[in-house]
Amino acid sequence: MHLVPTQEEVVALLRKTGGLRDGHFEDPDGRHVSEYLQVALSMRHYDVAKILSVGLSRQVRAHSDLRAIIPELSVVAPATGGLPVAYGVSEALRARQVYWAERQNQNEPLRFRQYLDIQPGEKVLLVDDIFRTGHRMAELKQLVESQGGEVVAMAVVVYQPAPNARSFGDLPFYYLARLDETYRDPGSCEQCRRGVPVEKVWA
Ligand SMILES: [Zn+2]
Repeated sequence: MHLVPTQEEVVALLRKTGGLRDGHFEDPDGRHVSEYLQVALSMRHYDVAKILSVGLSRQVRAHSDLRAIIPELSVVAPATGGLPVAYGVSEALRARQVYWAERQNQNEPLRFRQYLDIQPGEKVLLVDDIFRTGHRMAELKQLVESQGGEVVAMAVVVYQPAPNARSFGDLPFYYLARLDETYRDPGSCEQCRRGVPVEKVWA
């Protein structure tokens, strides 16, 4: 295993630990896919979590501007799925602190816990397990900035961009593997045509 695991090493690790599964799946939008990615299943295992988060931290550290501000860096996750990654990256970097945003209810905006106050000019690294549409990351970035923080980079384990994925311009963006998923309507799905039973997935 390389210090920063390669795309092939990451994919093999995800497959071995159930984070990447082959099959015939239907996502909540009704589209069919032949692979299902759920990095949290792989992050159950401490050794895997360690390899992935240390790899990601090395990418961040390789950027000289970011390396210089690590002692004051806050590592912030947009949801609980990003937490093991955020803690692993923070530990490897020896960053200042880790926290996360959440929603009280599905249709409410992201927020931080009460009394969690961002310092003016606080440097923030956004971290998550998967990047798909980037909508949640965009909302988190806006939340951090609205409270006076400065988002300096973004890091995720797997980049699986949806067709409508958000762009964050020049913001440094790190990922260990890129997986492009081919979404199909049930009408044009090869596995449906062959009568392979479909499994619904939550997210
Ligand atoms: Zn199908």
